[in-house]
Amino acid sequence: MKIITLREGKERSLLRRHPWVFQGSVAKGGADSGETVRVQAYDGRFLAWAAFSPSSQIRVRAWSFDEAERIDAAFFERQIRQAVALRARLAIDSDGIRLIHGEADGLPGLIVDQYGDLLSAQFLSTGTERWKATIADALLAATGCAYLYERSDANVRKLEGLESVTGWLRHPDTADGTRRSTDVTIHENGWKLTLDVATGHKTGYYLDQRDNRSLFAKLVRQLDCKTVLNCYSYTGGFSVAAFEGGATEVTSVDSSGPALARAHDHVTLNGHEASAHFTLDADVNDCLRQFLKDGRRFDAIVLDPPKFAPSAAHADRASRAYKDINRLAFMLLNPGGLLLTFSCSGGIDADLFHKIVAGAGMDAGVDGYLIKRLEATADHPTTINFPEGEYLKGLAIVRK
Ligand code: SAH
Repeated sequence: MKIITLREGKERSLLRRHPWVFQGSVAKGGADSGETVRVQAYDGRFLAWAAFSPSSQIRVRAWSFDEAERIDAAFFERQIRQAVALRARLAIDSDGIRLIHGEADGLPGLIVDQYGDLLSAQFLSTGTERWKATIADALLAATGCAYLYERSDANVRKLEGLESVTGWLRHPDTADGTRRSTDVTIHENGWKLTLDVATGHKTGYYLDQRDNRSLFAKLVRQLDCKTVLNCYSYTGGFSVAAFEGGATEVTSVDSSGPALARAHDHVTLNGHEASAHFTLDADVNDCLRQFLKDGRRFDAIVLDPPKFAPSAAHADRASRAYKDINRLAFMLLNPGGLLLTFSCSGGIDADLFHKIVAGAGMDAGVDGYLIKRLEATADHPTTINFPEGEYLKGLAIVRK
């Protein structure tokens, strides 16, 4: 067993059970990519069993803080069973569920979503890469699913020195060698939504917004919103929600043509009029400016942009970008209208996001009631030791 010794004073975060050790905290020791190492304090005290990452700034990711624990197949089986059992207890009203949410589930770098009868997984760290076959077997055993698709094509793999990998990781043998389609239909809040695990974003869909889509449908109905603008719509989850809430005209804006085509299909798949849904393949910022010029107004607007600030270092520029789109959205909102605005940037915390949106309202000359603070669904948990895990935050605002 290889040993990684930390510099004096650098043991504190592991003692608080925070799972990461940065490169600068390591005094000596090394190992192969993903190899299990014993991490110890400067004085030799045991701190954690961890996976080593030779090229990442995050040099070590902890598997366990218990010296008696062995990091073997049984360990991964236990972790995965525990994560799956939590989701079962949460009784989520959908067959699209995040089963493994990385660090929060004790499996740093592993993301697994279940979509109906198939699993879609991202292996984003050297440790999960090394244990991939073991993890795949444990996932099938814990869920009873036979299909597991791999989507290890996120950019963060590069920081770990890992190549991009996609394709079926587990698929039952068929007599003629045919493969199951990568398309799947899930049922969320009673609505039908389709996705393709091979070509969709991330693992295929954004399950973290499930509850917020449901809330949006309710608010659209309560506030009697008829015209809705869904910005960064992806495949139109919030657009379907708007129709379910009684909207009569919904515009979905995204820079991905295939996502918009699917959004349009979702409208009819759920029994709503195709002619009431408009798609715009455009940059949201340009689009909002154009709507303002044209004098357009909406009863409800959703802003769910991609991550503008991957880390705190990008927070300044990202803050300006968030403020800009929120200012425009406030100006496009009818009095009494609803704004659901989000940030999924880890580098922008909930308080800062609130301040940015407040500044945007100020610049737009608009005030609003903050009726609810929003976050990711419970199947994307954070743990009390890992505040970095908290990424999605949002505000539901009713314009005065
Ligand atoms: N609200 C969606 C998820 C949004 S993800 C849901 O509920 O499923 C963010 C989306 O923003 C992606 O679909 C991406 O294609 C789109 N996007 C990124 N940059 C954009 C831009 N500048 N203008 C328009 N869309 C953009």
